Amino acid sequence: MSVRTFPNYIDGAWVEGPTFENRNPANTGEVVGLHVSGTPSDIARAAAAAEAAFPAWSAMNGPARGALLYKVAELLDARFEEISAEMTREEGKTLPEAKGEVRRSINIFRYFAGEGSRLAGTMAPSERPRVHMFAVRKPVGVVALITPWNFPSAIPAWKLAPALICGNTVLMKPASAAPLSAWRLIEACHDAGIPPGVVNFVAGGGGALGAALLNARPVKAISFTGSCGVGEKLHEEASRRRLRIQLEMGGKNPTIVLADADFEAAVENVVNASFFSTGQKCTATSRAIVEESIYDRFVEAVAERTRKLKVGDGMQPGVDIGPCVDEGQMKTVLEYVEIGRTEAGEPVCGGRRLTGPGFDEGWFVAPTVFAGVTPEMRIAREEIFGPVLAIMKARDFNHALEVANGSEFGLSASLQTTNLSRMFEYVYGMEAGLLTVNLPSAGVEYQLPFGGTKDSSFGPKEQGPAAMEFYSDWKTVYIKY
Ligand code: NAP
Repeated sequence: MSVRTFPNYIDGAWVEGPTFENRNPANTGEVVGLHVSGTPSDIARAAAAAEAAFPAWSAMNGPARGALLYKVAELLDARFEEISAEMTREEGKTLPEAKGEVRRSINIFRYFAGEGSRLAGTMAPSERPRVHMFAVRKPVGVVALITPWNFPSAIPAWKLAPALICGNTVLMKPASAAPLSAWRLIEACHDAGIPPGVVNFVAGGGGALGAALLNARPVKAISFTGSCGVGEKLHEEASRRRLRIQLEMGGKNPTIVLADADFEAAVENVVNASFFSTGQKCTATSRAIVEESIYDRFVEAVAERTRKLKVGDGMQPGVDIGPCVDEGQMKTVLEYVEIGRTEAGEPVCGGRRLTGPGFDEGWFVAPTVFAGVTPEMRIAREEIFGPVLAIMKARDFNHALEVANGSEFGLSASLQTTNLSRMFEYVYGMEAGLLTVNLPSAGVEYQLPFGGTKDSSFGPKEQGPAAMEFYSDWKTVYIKY
């Protein structure tokens, strides 16, 4: 079967060129697609096209832009099955997870399409006689979107849709490990009739294209989701150019389990948050902090439940956990497993690459649980971004909260309890941008702000009404009548 090439998209045209392979991490013999590898000059052309398209797009009224975004959602919906299956094949998450993500992208486009009719300004009474004053939102200009592979459709969607509805024009650089899901959004924008130059897409290596993006004069803002190392570098460079920048980065998310929790539900929530999507969610739980009176029972129950998880090709029905996204990610996970062995001893389950029929052609790691982990250990402090859970012991709630907060990260957190006072103490005392109670730490919706605190994030939040803050600016008007 011939492998399809997916070109870049600049100024409304599909641009061919040398390609790189997008391989299936569950079966590395399968090339899902060939993607055109963009160059710095492609970035420059795309930025110029976005700049040229900006006046007309930003002058179009909000409801008209919204109508085009509704059309994008419709087209994605019509291609739902195909796009979901492609996501499983390029990223490795299971088909039900991929379907959930594509559904979310469709909902995100619908949500922000509606914002086109609501782009509200603000009014206030003047202290001066016969003065009417108000402020209106205006777009920022050309916005660069740099996205990771772990939510290869939803993250591009939750940047692209608000950027467009606010009247900005866009240049997207997807992750090289999973560019096709983002490409499908761009294809839908093209097919929906979004004018040339408004949306541009250049795939290729982050290093060279990142530098070109930062140096592209028309770019006025950068929205980045990815690792802390790349985010920090972008921040430094962007500050030098006084670019507006938003960074969503790593985490080391805790779930606190108190003795009064619904035990079975707590086990399920921790296992779900730690291992689904192969632990490759930025909001995944990687530390379970458990009250000592239930600690041993909890470790045993989590290990027992984890051993039952079915690992395999996410296209197969009944599979719970797919592979790591690529060899590099798998090696990182296995290195941390060895670090964990040195620090905490033999894991209570998992702790190895899976081999044999169905595994040898992919990057599969057995979901791994370490018990007896203490806060100074590296497996309790550093982001692993894979199916590895560290279980720690706490004397009581206050101690658990102290351990949970003893991290440079602050993305998400979860508490398992039936005690209402502990819930509120946690709500006000936990240092994280996303909190859940009696739910997994992962699993967010698009209608509310999303983002972390501490070293996990920088700048305005994404999603929900908060997204408008990054993608628009204010113009304040005073009229004497
Ligand atoms: P990454 O290596 O930082 O890559 C993210 C994006 O940045 C990719 O498109 C990448 O391109 C690009 N990039 C790489 N080097 C660059 C440079 N020098 N300049 C500009 N762009 C550059 O992260 P990842 O491995 O894709 O994603 C995993 C990380 O993302 C984890 O740390 C995870 O916690 C974080 N994450 C955070 C959130 C959140 O909301 N907080 C959500 C999801 C993921 P290439 O792919 O071509 O290298």
